[in-house]
Amino acid sequence: MNKKIAVLAGDGIGPEVMTETLRVLAVIASKFSHNFEYLQGKIGGQAYDSYQNHCPEETMQICRKADAILFGSVGGPVTEQQQPKWKNCEANSILKLRRHFNLNINIRPIVVYPELSGISPLKSQTIHEGIDCVIFRELTGGIYFGRHEQSIIDKQRQAVDDCIYTEQQIQSILHAAFKAAQSRRKKLCSVDKANVLATSKLWREVSEEISKDYPDVQLTHMLVDNCAMQMVINPQQFDVIVTENMFGDIISDLAAALPGSLGLIPSASLNAHGLGLYEPSGGSAPEIAGKGIANPCAQILSAAWMLKLSFGLAKEAQLIENAVKSTIASGIMTADLHKTSCVSTAKFVDAVITHI
Ligand code: NAD
Repeated sequence: MNKKIAVLAGDGIGPEVMTETLRVLAVIASKFSHNFEYLQGKIGGQAYDSYQNHCPEETMQICRKADAILFGSVGGPVTEQQQPKWKNCEANSILKLRRHFNLNINIRPIVVYPELSGISPLKSQTIHEGIDCVIFRELTGGIYFGRHEQSIIDKQRQAVDDCIYTEQQIQSILHAAFKAAQSRRKKLCSVDKANVLATSKLWREVSEEISKDYPDVQLTHMLVDNCAMQMVINPQQFDVIVTENMFGDIISDLAAALPGSLGLIPSASLNAHGLGLYEPSGGSAPEIAGKGIANPCAQILSAAWMLKLSFGLAKEAQLIENAVKSTIASGIMTADLHKTSCVSTAKFVDAVITHI
Protein backbone atom coordinates (compact mmCIF):
# COMPACT_ATOMS: atom_id res chain seq x y z
CA MET A 1 0.00 0.00 0.00
CA ASN A 2 1.27 3.52 -0.87
CA LYS A 3 0.22 6.35 1.45
CA LYS A 4 1.24 9.97 1.93
CA ILE A 5 1.38 11.09 5.57
CA ALA A 6 1.64 14.75 6.58
CA VAL A 7 4.03 14.82 9.54
CA LEU A 8 3.62 17.91 11.75
CA ALA A 9 5.93 17.36 14.72
CA GLY A 10 5.55 20.83 16.27
CA ASP A 11 7.04 21.96 19.58
CA GLY A 12 8.38 20.66 22.88
CA ILE A 13 8.43 16.86 23.00
CA GLY A 14 6.63 16.71 19.61
CA PRO A 15 9.76 16.26 17.44
CA GLU A 16 11.35 13.61 19.71
CA VAL A 17 8.27 11.39 20.05
CA MET A 18 7.55 11.85 16.34
CA THR A 19 11.06 10.69 15.35
CA GLU A 20 10.58 7.55 17.44
CA THR A 21 7.13 6.93 15.97
CA LEU A 22 8.49 7.09 12.43
CA ARG A 23 10.98 4.37 13.43
CA VAL A 24 8.03 2.17 14.41
CA LEU A 25 6.20 2.95 11.14
CA ALA A 26 9.36 2.10 9.17
CA VAL A 27 9.40 -1.37 10.73
CA ILE A 28 5.72 -1.89 9.92
CA ALA A 29 6.24 -0.65 6.34
CA SER A 30 9.11 -3.05 5.80
CA LYS A 31 7.36 -6.03 7.44
CA PHE A 32 4.16 -5.62 5.38
CA SER A 33 5.70 -4.11 2.19
CA HIS A 34 3.94 -0.77 2.50
CA ASN A 35 5.33 2.51 1.24
CA PHE A 36 4.70 5.46 3.56
CA GLU A 37 5.81 8.79 2.14
CA TYR A 38 6.30 11.47 4.82
CA LEU A 39 5.48 15.08 3.94
CA GLN A 40 7.11 17.14 6.70
CA GLY A 41 5.32 20.39 7.60
CA LYS A 42 5.86 23.08 10.21
CA ILE A 43 3.26 23.83 12.86
CA GLY A 44 2.96 25.85 16.08
CA GLY A 45 5.94 27.81 17.44
CA GLN A 46 8.22 25.97 15.03
CA ALA A 47 6.20 27.38 12.10
CA TYR A 48 6.04 30.82 13.73
CA ASP A 49 9.87 31.02 13.69
CA SER A 50 9.87 30.66 9.88
CA TYR A 51 6.54 32.20 8.82
CA GLN A 52 5.24 34.36 11.74
CA ASN A 53 2.19 32.13 11.44
CA HIS A 54 1.34 29.07 13.55
CA CYS A 55 -0.25 27.20 10.65
CA PRO A 56 0.99 28.66 7.35
CA GLU A 57 -0.42 28.00 3.89
CA GLU A 58 2.62 25.79 3.09
CA THR A 59 1.56 23.44 5.89
CA MET A 60 -2.08 23.49 4.79
CA GLN A 61 -1.00 22.50 1.27
CA ILE A 62 1.00 19.57 2.63
CA CYS A 63 -2.05 18.41 4.59
CA ARG A 64 -4.32 18.70 1.52
CA LYS A 65 -1.95 16.43 -0.43
CA ALA A 66 -1.79 13.82 2.33
CA ASP A 67 -3.94 10.75 3.04
CA ALA A 68 -3.68 11.41 6.80
CA ILE A 69 -2.13 13.91 9.20
CA LEU A 70 0.16 12.78 12.00
CA PHE A 71 0.36 15.65 14.47
CA GLY A 72 2.83 16.00 17.38
CA SER A 73 2.06 18.83 19.77
CA VAL A 74 2.29 22.60 19.84
CA GLY A 75 2.78 25.31 22.41
CA GLY A 76 5.41 26.78 24.68
CA PRO A 77 5.93 26.95 28.43
CA VAL A 78 2.78 28.00 30.30
CA THR A 79 4.68 31.01 31.75
CA GLU A 80 5.45 32.34 28.24
CA GLN A 81 1.96 32.18 26.73
CA GLN A 82 1.83 35.96 26.14
CA GLN A 83 4.90 36.00 23.87
CA PRO A 84 3.92 36.39 20.19
CA LYS A 85 5.50 33.02 19.35
CA TRP A 86 3.20 31.20 21.75
CA LYS A 87 0.10 33.41 21.98
CA ASN A 88 -2.97 31.44 20.77
CA CYS A 89 -0.58 28.88 19.32
CA GLU A 90 -2.81 25.86 20.02
CA ALA A 91 -5.99 27.50 18.71
CA ASN A 92 -4.22 28.85 15.59
CA SER A 93 -2.78 25.43 14.80
CA ILE A 94 -5.06 22.60 15.81
CA LEU A 95 -8.41 24.46 15.65
CA LYS A 96 -7.54 25.82 12.20
CA LEU A 97 -6.87 22.29 10.92
CA ARG A 98 -10.05 20.93 12.55
CA ARG A 99 -12.14 23.71 11.01
CA HIS A 100 -10.53 23.59 7.57
CA PHE A 101 -10.91 19.81 7.19
CA ASN A 102 -14.28 19.73 8.99
CA LEU A 103 -13.02 17.16 11.49
CA ASN A 104 -16.30 16.54 13.31
CA ILE A 105 -15.55 13.22 15.01
CA ASN A 106 -13.07 13.09 17.87
CA ILE A 107 -12.02 9.69 19.18
CA ARG A 108 -10.14 9.18 22.44
CA PRO A 109 -9.37 5.63 23.51
CA ILE A 110 -8.84 5.22 27.25
CA VAL A 111 -6.85 2.17 28.21
CA VAL A 112 -5.60 1.39 31.69
CA TYR A 113 -3.18 -1.51 31.47
CA PRO A 114 -3.50 -3.84 34.49
CA GLU A 115 0.31 -3.53 35.01
CA LEU A 116 -0.12 0.24 35.42
CA SER A 117 -3.14 0.23 37.72
CA GLY A 118 -0.79 1.48 40.48
CA ILE A 119 -0.30 4.89 38.80
CA SER A 120 -4.02 5.43 38.15
CA PRO A 121 -5.69 7.84 40.59
CA LEU A 122 -8.38 5.18 41.07
CA LYS A 123 -8.06 2.42 43.64
CA SER A 124 -6.63 -0.76 42.15
CA GLN A 125 -9.71 -2.78 43.24
CA THR A 126 -11.84 -0.47 41.04
CA ILE A 127 -9.71 -1.11 37.95
CA HIS A 128 -8.08 -4.47 38.66
CA GLU A 129 -9.04 -5.82 35.22
CA GLY A 130 -7.89 -2.65 33.47
CA ILE A 131 -10.06 -0.23 31.48
CA ASP A 132 -10.60 -0.31 27.73
CA CYS A 133 -13.12 2.18 26.37
CA VAL A 134 -13.34 4.69 23.53
CA ILE A 135 -14.99 8.08 23.70
CA PHE A 136 -16.56 9.56 20.54
CA ARG A 137 -17.02 13.31 20.89
CA GLU A 138 -18.85 15.48 18.35
CA LEU A 139 -16.47 18.35 17.54
CA THR A 140 -18.18 20.91 15.33
CA GLY A 141 -21.55 21.63 16.91
CA GLY A 142 -23.26 22.38 20.21
CA ILE A 143 -22.79 25.24 22.61
CA TYR A 144 -19.17 25.97 21.64
CA PHE A 145 -20.31 26.91 18.13
CA GLY A 146 -23.49 28.80 19.01
CA ARG A 147 -24.05 32.52 19.60
CA HIS A 148 -22.21 33.88 22.68
CA GLU A 149 -23.54 37.24 23.84
CA GLN A 150 -23.60 39.49 26.82
CA SER A 151 -26.15 42.28 27.16
CA ILE A 152 -27.79 44.52 29.76
CA ILE A 153 -31.44 43.94 30.46
CA ASP A 154 -33.23 45.89 33.24
CA LYS A 155 -29.83 47.29 34.31
CA GLN A 156 -28.47 43.78 34.89
CA ARG A 157 -25.77 42.05 32.92
CA GLN A 158 -27.05 38.94 31.22
CA ALA A 159 -25.30 36.36 29.06
CA VAL A 160 -26.51 33.79 26.56
CA ASP A 161 -24.83 30.83 24.82
CA ASP A 162 -26.87 29.04 22.16
CA CYS A 163 -26.60 25.28 21.83
CA ILE A 164 -27.64 24.00 18.40
CA TYR A 165 -27.53 20.53 16.85
CA THR A 166 -28.89 19.39 13.51
CA GLU A 167 -29.95 15.79 13.00
CA GLN A 168 -27.29 15.44 10.30
CA GLN A 169 -24.53 16.35 12.80
CA ILE A 170 -25.85 13.79 15.26
CA GLN A 171 -26.24 11.07 12.62
CA SER A 172 -22.66 11.49 11.43
CA ILE A 173 -21.03 10.81 14.79
CA LEU A 174 -23.59 8.15 15.81
CA HIS A 175 -22.83 6.07 12.71
CA ALA A 176 -19.09 6.26 13.44
CA ALA A 177 -19.63 5.23 17.08
CA PHE A 178 -21.97 2.34 16.20
CA LYS A 179 -19.44 1.03 13.65
CA ALA A 180 -16.67 1.18 16.26
CA ALA A 181 -18.85 -0.69 18.77
CA GLN A 182 -19.49 -3.41 16.17
CA SER A 183 -15.77 -4.16 16.03
CA ARG A 184 -15.41 -4.15 19.84
CA ARG A 185 -17.63 -5.44 22.67
CA LYS A 186 -20.81 -4.22 20.93
CA LYS A 187 -21.92 -1.84 23.68
CA LEU A 188 -22.63 1.81 22.94
CA CYS A 189 -23.48 4.28 25.71
CA SER A 190 -24.92 7.55 24.45
CA VAL A 191 -24.42 10.36 26.96
CA ASP A 192 -26.79 13.34 27.10
CA LYS A 193 -28.95 15.51 29.36
CA ALA A 194 -32.27 14.49 27.84
CA ASN A 195 -34.20 15.18 31.06
CA VAL A 196 -33.63 18.92 30.42
CA LEU A 197 -32.14 19.91 27.06
CA ALA A 198 -33.93 19.97 23.69
CA THR A 199 -30.66 19.17 21.88
CA SER A 200 -30.25 16.09 24.08
CA LYS A 201 -33.84 14.98 23.40
CA LEU A 202 -33.12 15.19 19.66
CA TRP A 203 -29.79 13.37 20.23
CA ARG A 204 -31.65 10.52 21.96
CA GLU A 205 -34.35 10.32 19.26
CA VAL A 206 -31.77 10.19 16.45
CA SER A 207 -29.62 7.63 18.25
CA GLU A 208 -32.65 5.34 18.71
CA GLU A 209 -33.50 5.68 14.99
CA ILE A 210 -29.93 4.87 13.93
CA SER A 211 -29.68 1.91 16.31
CA LYS A 212 -32.09 0.04 13.97
CA ASP A 213 -29.22 -0.15 11.43
CA TYR A 214 -26.98 -1.82 14.05
CA PRO A 215 -29.07 -4.55 15.70
CA ASP A 216 -25.93 -6.34 16.96
CA VAL A 217 -24.99 -3.32 19.13
CA GLN A 218 -26.63 -2.75 22.50
CA LEU A 219 -27.46 0.97 22.81
CA THR A 220 -27.93 2.48 26.28
CA HIS A 221 -28.42 6.10 27.37
CA MET A 222 -26.84 7.80 30.35
CA LEU A 223 -27.23 11.31 31.72
CA VAL A 224 -23.94 13.20 31.67
CA ASP A 225 -23.86 13.84 35.43
CA ASN A 226 -24.27 10.11 36.09
CA CYS A 227 -21.62 9.34 33.44
CA ALA A 228 -19.08 11.51 35.28
CA MET A 229 -19.79 9.56 38.46
CA GLN A 230 -19.73 6.14 36.75
CA MET A 231 -16.41 7.00 35.08
CA VAL A 232 -14.89 7.20 38.55
CA ILE A 233 -16.72 4.44 40.44
CA ASN A 234 -17.09 1.81 37.69
CA PRO A 235 -15.23 2.75 34.47
CA GLN A 236 -14.86 -0.91 33.47
CA GLN A 237 -18.53 -0.98 32.40
CA PHE A 238 -17.86 1.22 29.34
CA ASP A 239 -17.04 0.01 25.84
CA VAL A 240 -17.88 2.87 23.41
CA ILE A 241 -19.25 6.21 24.63
CA VAL A 242 -20.72 8.76 22.23
CA THR A 243 -21.63 12.29 23.18
CA GLU A 244 -21.96 15.91 22.09
CA ASN A 245 -19.19 18.49 22.07
CA MET A 246 -19.16 20.06 25.55
CA PHE A 247 -20.08 16.86 27.42
CA GLY A 248 -17.36 15.07 25.45
CA ASP A 249 -14.81 17.75 26.32
CA ILE A 250 -15.45 17.25 30.03
CA ILE A 251 -15.92 13.46 30.10
CA SER A 252 -12.89 12.79 27.90
CA ASP A 253 -10.62 14.92 30.13
CA LEU A 254 -11.96 13.17 33.22
CA ALA A 255 -11.29 9.82 31.56
CA ALA A 256 -7.80 10.96 30.47
CA ALA A 257 -6.80 11.14 34.13
CA LEU A 258 -7.50 7.43 34.68
CA PRO A 259 -4.43 5.87 32.96
CA GLY A 260 -2.15 8.00 35.18
CA SER A 261 -0.12 9.72 32.42
CA LEU A 262 -1.10 11.83 29.43
CA GLY A 263 1.79 10.20 27.62
CA LEU A 264 -0.32 7.06 27.16
CA ILE A 265 -3.38 8.50 25.43
CA PRO A 266 -3.70 8.89 21.65
CA SER A 267 -6.53 10.64 19.85
CA ALA A 268 -8.00 10.90 16.37
CA SER A 269 -10.18 13.51 14.69
CA LEU A 270 -11.97 12.46 11.50
CA ASN A 271 -14.22 14.02 8.92
CA ALA A 272 -17.11 12.39 7.09
CA HIS A 273 -14.81 11.45 4.19
CA GLY A 274 -12.36 9.53 6.40
CA LEU A 275 -9.55 12.11 6.44
CA GLY A 276 -8.02 11.95 9.88
CA LEU A 277 -5.69 13.91 12.12
CA TYR A 278 -3.95 11.77 14.73
CA GLU A 279 -2.22 13.22 17.80
CA PRO A 280 -1.36 12.60 21.44
CA SER A 281 -4.01 13.82 23.89
CA GLY A 282 -1.42 15.73 25.89
CA GLY A 283 0.49 18.87 25.00
CA SER A 284 4.10 19.75 24.27
CA ALA A 285 5.34 19.13 27.85
CA PRO A 286 8.05 21.84 27.53
CA GLU A 287 9.59 21.08 30.93
CA ILE A 288 10.77 17.62 29.80
CA ALA A 289 11.47 18.48 26.13
CA GLY A 290 14.96 17.64 24.85
CA LYS A 291 15.77 15.34 27.75
CA GLY A 292 14.95 12.12 25.91
CA ILE A 293 12.55 10.97 28.64
CA ALA A 294 9.10 11.69 27.11
CA ASN A 295 6.68 8.80 26.84
CA PRO A 296 6.21 8.06 23.11
CA CYS A 297 3.17 5.76 23.59
CA ALA A 298 0.52 8.40 22.81
CA GLN A 299 2.24 9.32 19.54
CA ILE A 300 2.93 5.69 18.55
CA LEU A 301 -0.65 4.66 19.36
CA SER A 302 -1.93 7.67 17.37
CA ALA A 303 -0.02 6.28 14.39
CA ALA A 304 -1.61 2.87 15.01
CA TRP A 305 -5.07 4.48 14.94
CA MET A 306 -4.09 6.19 11.68
CA LEU A 307 -3.23 2.83 10.13
CA LYS A 308 -6.52 1.35 11.34
CA LEU A 309 -8.96 4.16 10.60
CA SER A 310 -7.51 6.03 7.61
CA PHE A 311 -5.72 3.18 5.81
CA GLY A 312 -7.77 0.13 6.89
CA LEU A 313 -4.62 -1.62 8.16
CA ALA A 314 -6.17 -3.25 11.24
CA LYS A 315 -3.63 -6.08 11.51
CA GLU A 316 -0.67 -3.68 11.47
CA ALA A 317 -2.36 -1.40 14.03
CA GLN A 318 -3.05 -4.35 16.34
CA LEU A 319 0.58 -5.42 16.11
CA ILE A 320 1.73 -1.97 17.29
CA GLU A 321 -0.84 -1.89 20.11
CA ASN A 322 0.18 -5.38 21.27
CA ALA A 323 3.88 -4.41 21.13
CA VAL A 324 3.29 -1.34 23.32
CA LYS A 325 1.25 -3.45 25.76
CA SER A 326 3.92 -6.18 25.89
CA THR A 327 6.71 -3.65 26.41
CA ILE A 328 4.93 -2.17 29.42
CA ALA A 329 3.98 -5.63 30.71
CA SER A 330 7.65 -6.63 30.58
CA GLY A 331 8.45 -3.77 32.99
CA ILE A 332 10.07 -1.42 30.46
CA MET A 333 8.68 2.05 31.16
CA THR A 334 9.45 5.74 30.75
CA ALA A 335 9.84 8.09 33.73
CA ASP A 336 6.18 9.17 33.86
CA LEU A 337 5.18 5.51 34.41
CA HIS A 338 7.92 4.40 36.79
CA LYS A 339 9.98 6.98 38.63
CA THR A 340 12.87 4.76 39.76
CA SER A 341 13.31 2.02 37.18
CA CYS A 342 12.82 3.76 33.84
CA VAL A 343 14.34 3.91 30.35
CA SER A 344 14.77 6.68 27.78
CA THR A 345 12.26 7.36 24.99
CA ALA A 346 14.59 5.68 22.46
CA LYS A 347 15.18 2.58 24.61
CA PHE A 348 11.44 2.19 25.14
CA VAL A 349 10.91 2.28 21.38
CA ASP A 350 13.75 -0.22 20.84
CA ALA A 351 11.73 -2.61 23.02
CA VAL A 352 8.49 -1.90 21.11
CA ILE A 353 10.29 -2.65 17.85
CA THR A 354 11.67 -5.89 19.26
CA HIS A 355 8.13 -6.94 20.18
CA ILE A 356 6.89 -6.11 16.67
P1 NAD B 1 0.95 19.03 28.81
O1 NAD B 1 -0.02 18.01 28.33
O2 NAD B 1 2.01 19.43 27.87
O3 NAD B 1 1.64 18.50 30.16
C1 NAD B 1 0.87 18.13 31.30
C2 NAD B 1 1.69 17.15 32.15
O4 NAD B 1 1.74 15.89 31.46
C3 NAD B 1 3.14 17.60 32.34
O5 NAD B 1 3.57 17.16 33.61
C4 NAD B 1 3.89 16.83 31.26
O6 NAD B 1 5.25 16.60 31.57
C5 NAD B 1 3.09 15.53 31.20
N1 NAD B 1 3.15 14.89 29.88
C6 NAD B 1 2.44 15.20 28.78
N2 NAD B 1 2.78 14.41 27.75
C7 NAD B 1 3.75 13.60 28.21
C8 NAD B 1 4.52 12.57 27.63
N3 NAD B 1 4.36 12.19 26.34
N4 NAD B 1 5.45 11.93 28.39
C9 NAD B 1 5.63 12.26 29.68
N5 NAD B 1 4.91 13.22 30.30
C10 NAD B 1 3.99 13.90 29.57
O7 NAD B 1 0.07 20.29 29.26
P2 NAD B 1 0.53 21.76 29.75
O8 NAD B 1 1.78 21.67 30.54
O9 NAD B 1 -0.69 22.34 30.37
O10 NAD B 1 0.80 22.57 28.40
C11 NAD B 1 2.09 22.72 27.81
C12 NAD B 1 1.91 23.32 26.44
O11 NAD B 1 1.21 22.38 25.60
C13 NAD B 1 1.07 24.59 26.43
O12 NAD B 1 1.68 25.50 25.56
C14 NAD B 1 -0.28 24.14 25.91
O13 NAD B 1 -0.96 25.16 25.23
C15 NAD B 1 0.14 23.05 24.95
N6 NAD B 1 -0.91 22.06 24.63
C16 NAD B 1 -0.93 21.64 23.34
C17 NAD B 1 -1.84 20.66 22.96
C18 NAD B 1 -1.80 20.19 21.53
O14 NAD B 1 -0.78 20.33 20.88
N7 NAD B 1 -2.88 19.61 21.01
C19 NAD B 1 -2.73 20.11 23.89
C20 NAD B 1 -2.64 20.55 25.23
C21 NAD B 1 -1.72 21.54 25.60
